[in-house]
Amino acid sequence: VKVAVIHAAHDIRVEDQEVPPLGPGDVRVRVRAGGICGSDLHYYQHGGFGQVRLREPMILGHEVAGVVEQIGAAVTAVAVGAHVAVNPSQPCGCCDYCRRGMPNQCLDMRFYGSAMRMPHVQGAFREVLVCTESQAIPIPDELAFSSAAFAEPLAVCLHAARQAGALLGQRVLVSGVGPIGALAVLTARQAGAREIVATDILAEPLDLVRRIGADRALNVREQPDALQSYSAGKGYFDVVFEASGSAAALAAAVQVVRAGGSIIQIGLGGDLSVPMNVLVSKELTLRGSFRFHEEFVWAVHCIASGAIKVEPLLTEIVPLAQVRRAFELAGDRRRAMKIQLAL
Ligand SMILES: [Zn+2]
Ligand SMILES: [Zn+2]
Repeated sequence: VKVAVIHAAHDIRVEDQEVPPLGPGDVRVRVRAGGICGSDLHYYQHGGFGQVRLREPMILGHEVAGVVEQIGAAVTAVAVGAHVAVNPSQPCGCCDYCRRGMPNQCLDMRFYGSAMRMPHVQGAFREVLVCTESQAIPIPDELAFSSAAFAEPLAVCLHAARQAGALLGQRVLVSGVGPIGALAVLTARQAGAREIVATDILAEPLDLVRRIGADRALNVREQPDALQSYSAGKGYFDVVFEASGSAAALAAAVQVVRAGGSIIQIGLGGDLSVPMNVLVSKELTLRGSFRFHEEFVWAVHCIASGAIKVEPLLTEIVPLAQVRRAFELAGDRRRAMKIQLAL
């Protein structure tokens, strides 16, 4: 079957590979849709991020959905023919963090398409994927695979929302509206936020989040002081979801979040400096949010029920044979919100 393998920055190839054998607890999924994520783009554009570098060829991809075409002898929860979204996260289940109920912090995590460990964990941009039964979450037959493939990034946002606590009646700022920021806008709306303001440095994604429900969308490159008025009275927002990983955005967040408010940092941005005196004196909470666990199933339900409508975020579905074009397009934020591969 065909797979999409990254060899080095800007070197992604479609190659043939044998389908791995099916264990008793495994299912074989014919993959239909695979979303290109920020981490996939980092491997494509830079060969990795931070300390994490590609050291061997790796199949990219971790946002996929498809059809079960074969099941192992011991599988009971999924049937042949079932449509599924595939959870790319495989915590070990027995390390200290797994046992404490924090499996997203697993010490022995295997997450699809990740070069964090050696050998790398191969990803899911393949025509046929073998995963465990517990990773295959059934979706309704009538749900588009392209919609179901949003379950992973939406799960990231649902986890971030839990880090923030109740959003009912809250004023929320989302900084950085790539796919994660845009899904954070949808999540905050669904969770009952009273007011949602979004910021970015590009007009195109801001136009999109305005259409999907942000009350205001501000271009902080064209108007560097666009958030200024929100810093009056020790700040305005109860919660900030910081999804850009930019130092300027985090510094702005500290100014415009109200005393006692929370900043949930989702974007990874390397070593950012924080205006610590303001953080201390306003008694702010600065909290990281990383991946997800049980939120994956919740995300599938939100998408399947239509409670969260992800479809406006999908820019284009590109055939696997044009994987290079797909990655170039995905890297152009003026033209693309979410690009998916048809596998
Ligand atoms: Zn992702
Ligand atoms: Zn573990």
